[in-house]
Amino acid sequence: MNSFNPDSVSIDRSSFIGGEFAATGGTAIGVFRPSDGHLACEFREATADCVDRAVESARSALRVSGWSDIAPRQRAAVMRHWASLVDEHRVELARLESLCSSRPIAETMGRDLPVVAELLRFYAECADKSPGEVFDTARGILSFTQHEPYGVVAAITPWNVPLLLATAKFAPALAAGNAVVLKPSELTPFAILRIAALGVRAGVPPGLFNVLIGSGAITGNALVRHPGVGYVTFTGSTQTGVTVMCEAAQHGIKPVSLELGGKSPQLVFDDAPDVAELASLVAASLTRNSGQICFCGSRLIVQRGIADELIARVLDEVRAVQAGPTWHEATTLPPIISADQANRIDAIVKRAKDAGAQTLVGGKRFEHKGGQFFEPTVLTGMDSTNDAVRSEIFGPVLTVQVFDDYDEGLALAAHPTYGLAAGVHTRDIDKALASAREIEAGTVWVNTYGRGNDVVSPFGGFKQSGFGKDFGLAAFDKYRRIKNLYIRADRDQRRTAPRA
Ligand code: NDP
Repeated sequence: MNSFNPDSVSIDRSSFIGGEFAATGGTAIGVFRPSDGHLACEFREATADCVDRAVESARSALRVSGWSDIAPRQRAAVMRHWASLVDEHRVELARLESLCSSRPIAETMGRDLPVVAELLRFYAECADKSPGEVFDTARGILSFTQHEPYGVVAAITPWNVPLLLATAKFAPALAAGNAVVLKPSELTPFAILRIAALGVRAGVPPGLFNVLIGSGAITGNALVRHPGVGYVTFTGSTQTGVTVMCEAAQHGIKPVSLELGGKSPQLVFDDAPDVAELASLVAASLTRNSGQICFCGSRLIVQRGIADELIARVLDEVRAVQAGPTWHEATTLPPIISADQANRIDAIVKRAKDAGAQTLVGGKRFEHKGGQFFEPTVLTGMDSTNDAVRSEIFGPVLTVQVFDDYDEGLALAAHPTYGLAAGVHTRDIDKALASAREIEAGTVWVNTYGRGNDVVSPFGGFKQSGFGKDFGLAAFDKYRRIKNLYIRADRDQRRTAPRA
């Protein structure tokens, strides 16, 4: 039984700089438990001075430890050890992760922590498996590429799947020989702080991986601007991504990668296989993490012949969810992360209804033992201009649109700005491949939806959903620069050659 008492969880209360928990002098920031509204602790925000300290300790750790110059297999050994410590501390980390986030303990134990350990192992394996290239050149010329790390990578991450999304950044960046300064969302810092401390125990040189607790406006902004940062990797909303990209450009033309928002369609044709299984997938898109998942398939676009049966089954599934705190094993509908976010969801649903949407189920926020929740909500009767169909809601809200033919379905699936992910459900492989090609999105799932425990496949959006990939080898490669060495290798030979 994974349920736990939230008052029994011991937490770390400061940023992690130079290999230890360190005092930071900024204003107090309260971290609240979304499940019951209790204050878990107050942090002192990491100010611009702390950002300086963290970047400096990252640079110094790189210099002193030689992390980027040692044999990649040595880095791999440290990361494998770190993964085994994560396995050993799985219960403690899962509780820390569930305490102040929207991740139910069943999910953090069953999915997030195993994936986090697997990411550390996967990037340990990458460390020496992706060498440079040697090019065909004129005889006497040796031209080849070497990979070099960027130095200090600034990573900024959101609250919705905090530890896993942070690990998807720091694990490849470190394995590639960089140092990392990570600013997680101030709402969900606890498991990330603990994993940083475990890293030092595993042999990560102190200072190589720092975690700064603070707001985006103060800590995040100072980090992106810092002249000692060589690369910025960001996951969050499109709006903040724009700011981060502008700041990175204006303060050193730093390369950035952006994993941003989405409004992903699930395109279901009449010949979709296994309607019961499909209904569970669609319902999970709406209820898992209460819809607070970047790629959740929040737009159901379904062909008329199958629509009634599928919608009826989805409604049955969502009516069966159990709202509750993240520390209860049985919870399948967790809280909304904050009252502000619950208000935002509420406002969009109200606007959708004012514009003519009908509610098939749900539609209201509710409070449960001090936590903010939102009923799983299915809306229909809207065209694509409705706010609920266009905007990323980041809550348990599904819009349904019905189509008659292939072209109409594809037109509805297209989104004017987002292109993060999509699902296509059909038994016809030609139709699946054709529609996957038509849909402008970084991932198209066919007859399934979501990443499961996959760490191998790259993930990242098109259009305003961002660029650059997290996960897979692509994420490892993005944290390395390519240097070409072009060597004229025949000179000595000619000089010493005997005269005819
Ligand atoms: P935000 O964009 O609000 O915040 C993301 C991170 O950026 C937080 O750590 C935040 O700090 C920080 N931040 C805010 N302003 C700045 C700034 N000016 N400079 C530097 N950093 C800043 O997103 P949310 O945390 O609300 O996360 C939800 C969003 O993330 C959704 O849009 C979702 O789609 C997207 N997302 C995308 C994923 C993907 O893979 N494409 C995966 C998961 C989420 P703080 O909040 O502490 O102030």
